Amino acid sequence: MPSYTPPLRDMKFVLHELLDVTTQLRQIPQHADIDADTIDSVLEEAGKFCAEVIFPLNQVGDREGCKYVGDGVVTTPTGFKEAYKQYVDGGWPSLGCDPDYGGQGLPHILSSAVMEMMNSANQSWSMYPGLSHGAYNALQAFGTPEQKKLYLPKLVSGEWTGTMCLTEAHCGTDLGMLKSRAEPQPDGSYAITGTKIFISAGEHDLADNILHLVLARLPDAPQGTKGISLFIVPKFLPTADGKVGARNGVKCGSIEHKMGIHGNATCVINLDGAKGWMVGAPNKGLNAMFVMMNTARLGVGMQSLGLAEVAYQNSLAYAKDRIQSRSLTGPKNPQKPADPIIVHPDVRRMLLTQKAYVEAARAFSYWAGLAIDREHKHPDPQMRKDMADLVALLTPVIKGFITDNGYECCTLAMQVLGGHGYIAESGLEQYVRDARINMIYEGTNGIQALDLIGRKVLADAGAKLMKFGKAIQDVMKRYADDPAMKEFIEPVQALLGEVQKVTMEIGQKAMKNPDEVGAAADPFLRLIGHLVFSFGWVYQAGVAIKKVEAKDPDPFYQAKLTTARFYFAKLYPETATLLKKIRAGSAPLMALDAALF
Ligand SMILES: Cc1cc2nc3c(=O)[nH]c(=O)nc-3n(C[C@H](O)[C@H](O)[C@H](O)COP(=O)(O)OP(=O)(O)OC[C@H]3O[C@@H](n4cnc5c(N)ncnc54)[C@H](O)[C@@H]3O)c2cc1C
Repeated sequence: MPSYTPPLRDMKFVLHELLDVTTQLRQIPQHADIDADTIDSVLEEAGKFCAEVIFPLNQVGDREGCKYVGDGVVTTPTGFKEAYKQYVDGGWPSLGCDPDYGGQGLPHILSSAVMEMMNSANQSWSMYPGLSHGAYNALQAFGTPEQKKLYLPKLVSGEWTGTMCLTEAHCGTDLGMLKSRAEPQPDGSYAITGTKIFISAGEHDLADNILHLVLARLPDAPQGTKGISLFIVPKFLPTADGKVGARNGVKCGSIEHKMGIHGNATCVINLDGAKGWMVGAPNKGLNAMFVMMNTARLGVGMQSLGLAEVAYQNSLAYAKDRIQSRSLTGPKNPQKPADPIIVHPDVRRMLLTQKAYVEAARAFSYWAGLAIDREHKHPDPQMRKDMADLVALLTPVIKGFITDNGYECCTLAMQVLGGHGYIAESGLEQYVRDARINMIYEGTNGIQALDLIGRKVLADAGAKLMKFGKAIQDVMKRYADDPAMKEFIEPVQALLGEVQKVTMEIGQKAMKNPDEVGAAADPFLRLIGHLVFSFGWVYQAGVAIKKVEAKDPDPFYQAKLTTARFYFAKLYPETATLLKKIRAGSAPLMALDAALF
């Protein structure tokens, strides 16, 4: 049986010592009164809910899965409904939501930290409220005042949940091909017809109503992505006073049997002239969706961070307990017949890789959470613009790099347990299966990589990347006179120089052959991922060194420093290979005729 302890020590380190989150948030008028105690007590309470209420349901959910019981009805695994009621009764859905609609108005960075723990505890369960949050964001940004008044309080309270209905059988990545139709009706509503597939949380028994946000085409819509509109389609039509009314023509047709996240219903959703209302402008549905992509993609990054953390915790506990063979340098545990496997360098490689990736991902994603708060609410327009640019640039990195590493961490954690990791009871193989989807949905990681290099870097001639580079240089200058920081600063400066060079090379080659962009995309995303992580490790090492030099008795800081050194010695060197892969160009990929594969 796996276990989970919320990693509050490292979470607080990132929030308070690294990001100085209270000072930063107080510059935002809505958060002028925030204090560290509030932040910490929310984290502690949320941690209890995650560890005590939803974590014990994680393996149950995996074993039982959701069930399609006929006529559009889906039931969730044992205990999911009761846990959801506790979540709603505790006011958790409203944490980061607008007080105008019943929300608590707490900062996004805090919701992100809570989300990490929810995902460690139970990703499948956490997707039900997670999807509602996506629907909330879309409606808040694009809904009419009437739509907001009617729907937002229900999503904020958690009484109703939400979905995002984009995918159809013939189109996932290329939404320009979607076929669902929306016919205008005399009363201003639309009759929507079509079939959506793979809709997470599309049907369940947790809440009274489900609000589907559906992409569809108007009859006169232009072809492609420029002809897509967004509609809200409730499962039950709301009455004027916001109660659940008549059943709408939107129904779950079946649910998928899949590799992981068994506790979350992945649904075929049939729309048969279902009544819906447009959200935002006609033919601008994808723009509406893209606005909320930053938070949604950060959310997927948090899913993988959460899974990597819990997998790491369990592999670490096992490595300290399991005895096999003797240490190469002589017995460390002579009173027992063998040493704990944590003495072996190869087991340490697996544990430290997880630790270094998890802690770097936490620092990066919480920073991004704070950047989103600043982007949306900071009084200084220049700060809002700078943060918007950095968030736009780094969102595909959060989604792609953290989920790729998260999957690697889960397989390493399983490997630490040897054969026992492969056995269901350990819980580790479930993390591997659950983590795999995070690399696929919300835009595959291949598409994230194209987004980064194409739309975020080359499209503005590297302007956002240069802004990020300048931010890195500024921090490096701060440490320039500190000899203790040299070992951390030098590799970051070297990598920044290489990134600038190779980006220009790709841009030049792309002018002659657009396939060069596609060929460079995947290693380029990992390269930028390492630039971000190495930069983050400079920050973390900087705080830790000061504490160690001041003889702080907390061994946490020495561990931080040692982990930073591990990162630069053993993970960062991947950047040399990535640069070679990028420079190898498109020819090795495109030379083979499709018929000869
Ligand atoms: C469990 C689960 C839950 C999901 N939840 C939801 C949900 O709630 N709502 C929703 O709308 N959808 C959901 N999806 C759908 C998901 O977002 C899509 O599966 C995903 O976007 C990929 O689309 P696709 O499966 O059609 O693959 P395709 O688009 O067919 O892609 C196949 C492969 O080709 C690659 N590819 C495609 N185009 C390009 C290109 N231009 N350049 C390079 N490579 C390319 C892709 O990266 C991928 O590797 C879910 C899917 C699953 C499995």
